[in-house]
Amino acid sequence: MEERFIGRAKELIANAFAMDAHFDLALDLDDRREIGGTKVYSDRHDELIRAGGWNCIVSSLFIHSWQLPEMALRKALDQISALVSEESEQPDKIALCTTMKEVSAANAAGKLGIIVSFEGVDPLGSDMRLLQVFYRLGVRAVGLAWSRRNYAADGCSFSPQREGRKGGLTRFGVDVLEEAERLGMLVDISHLNDEGVDDVARFATRPFIASHSNCRALVPVMRNLTDDQIKLVADCGGVVGMNCASSFVSSDERDDIGILELSSHIDHIVSLVGDDFVGLGLDCCDRLADFHSAPSNINSYDSVKDHSRLPELASVLLEKGYKEESVAKIIGGNFRRVYEEVIG
Ligand SMILES: [Zn+2]
Repeated sequence: MEERFIGRAKELIANAFAMDAHFDLALDLDDRREIGGTKVYSDRHDELIRAGGWNCIVSSLFIHSWQLPEMALRKALDQISALVSEESEQPDKIALCTTMKEVSAANAAGKLGIIVSFEGVDPLGSDMRLLQVFYRLGVRAVGLAWSRRNYAADGCSFSPQREGRKGGLTRFGVDVLEEAERLGMLVDISHLNDEGVDDVARFATRPFIASHSNCRALVPVMRNLTDDQIKLVADCGGVVGMNCASSFVSSDERDDIGILELSSHIDHIVSLVGDDFVGLGLDCCDRLADFHSAPSNINSYDSVKDHSRLPELASVLLEKGYKEESVAKIIGGNFRRVYEEVIG
């Protein structure tokens, strides 16, 4: 990688808006606060995120399968509590935001804007009344399911499972989608199975996103989107966020899959639908590994090592010949557009 591209990339990022649409930040904060940690954000994340030049990170609320069903609601609330505590402890570094205007204000004050999302609506159980409560608590994006079944939908598995047939959205799932749209929450199809993606496209009246999903045309796993699904997202004005998990980036068994391989998914989406519908939802997991429960049968690692690597990613795109304007859209401009449109 040429030095001049890194320099240009850093300058571009400094003048652009960089947004990661998927990171299990709240899970990490909560796990470490549970064992006595404080200012976990400063200890573990601030330096890397600052070095990367990020403006906004969407923190998911992730519930482990072993916590279902009884602890789903409790753990979602604990994770929001962890975010709130961390914000009070480091008011100069992070701000919980519910609109993109608030994110801009946070950035102007030198802080990272954090938006909260569901990674599966398991915390609702089957109780729709709780969605508006989570809206009040700041949740602004709604992944309907993680890679398992809940009351709303069937998630897609990471690899073929020994299991019965699956369905799309349930009646409750359609209600969640409609209520989320009414409240001003952005619907997220990442982790849904193909039937569920079709159903979201059928019932949605607002743009929806795939916060962290790659291209199935390049790597044939269920977690990646088919070209038709990518077109559905683009047709509604949504964005597909690139996931850095190596098993979704490349089919090779190598242990050095990196940013170049990830960029080929960006190339594919741009050639399919243009540069307005692709973004980053990196889902960096390696640094969460000691607590994170990635399925143990999947051998995967982060192809973008951590948040500090954004300049390398941007420089790879510049080196490939992407215009600066395109790179700015891809690293965050596109996600900002669709979030602004739906949450304000
Ligand atoms: Zn995920």
